[in-house]
Amino acid sequence: MQGLWLSKGSWAFKPDLLDPVIGLDESLVAVEAAGICGTDLELARGYYDFNGIPGHEFIGRVVSGARVGQRVVADINLGCGRCQRCQAGVHRHCAERVVIGIHQRAGAFAQFLSVPNNNLITVDEDLSDGLAVLAEPVAAALEIIEQMPKPLPSRVLVVGAGRLGLLVAEVLASFDCEVAILVRSPERAAHLQNKRIQVVTSVESESFGWLVDCSGSSSGLATALRAAMPQAILVLKSTLTDAVGVDLSPIMVKELTVLGSRCGPMDKALAWLGAGHLSVPLSVRYSFSAINSALEAAKSPRFFKVLLEPDPC
Ligand SMILES: [Zn+2]
Ligand SMILES: [Zn+2]
Repeated sequence: MQGLWLSKGSWAFKPDLLDPVIGLDESLVAVEAAGICGTDLELARGYYDFNGIPGHEFIGRVVSGARVGQRVVADINLGCGRCQRCQAGVHRHCAERVVIGIHQRAGAFAQFLSVPNNNLITVDEDLSDGLAVLAEPVAAALEIIEQMPKPLPSRVLVVGAGRLGLLVAEVLASFDCEVAILVRSPERAAHLQNKRIQVVTSVESESFGWLVDCSGSSSGLATALRAAMPQAILVLKSTLTDAVGVDLSPIMVKELTVLGSRCGPMDKALAWLGAGHLSVPLSVRYSFSAINSALEAAKSPRFFKVLLEPDPC
């Protein structure tokens, strides 16, 4: 099969990858479209020491195994199924877990991938590819709602207007929160069509009791810590592997609650997308062999989402 191979930070299109091995209770999925996400760019920079086929935001169709013919997305976290955490339903924290396209498991930047049947989620035929590939990041945004104490505060600041930041703002706004999003480049915010989300370019210190950091940067985290009111809740959505130089004393001095947040409920994400909360975002499609152009597009703020698809055979 054809697909992309990431090794030591460099991407290569390969027309002759080995077909996926289909394990017990797994299905073979033909990839229709896969989104490039910030994590993929991180993988290329050495995060998780990934060598193989990346890609974890995808929509495909089952070609063998369970649910043949159905359109599917996947819960990308695969637990061992036997440990205490797996038994308690938190397989995303299984010590043995592998993660599709991110950690020790081939992903969706290829013609086919194998997925455990339990991780498959059926998608309505009428949900567009452009929305369906957002199921994983929308689930990550919905996880904030799952984790937050209720009732939710009425106001929230989202720091960072990358693709995840924009989705987080849209999701929180749909829960009737007054959302402000702090942007550096107003160009990014052009993707926001939701009039209920206020776009700001600066923020006063100690002005928000609930904040979500999606900046992916040390400076974004520092801004969030400064903007937090005493006893605020700060949700961390950034994968910050190197926050050198950030003054963490406000966490203690202001008695902040820091809430780490990763993956969320895919079924709820599909329902949210199906309910029409988001208009189809501006996306662009490239075939796998045009990976270099696709990566360029993914780095520019012009498109909300860059999708990859198999080259026509
Ligand atoms: Zn992602
Ligand atoms: Zn486990």
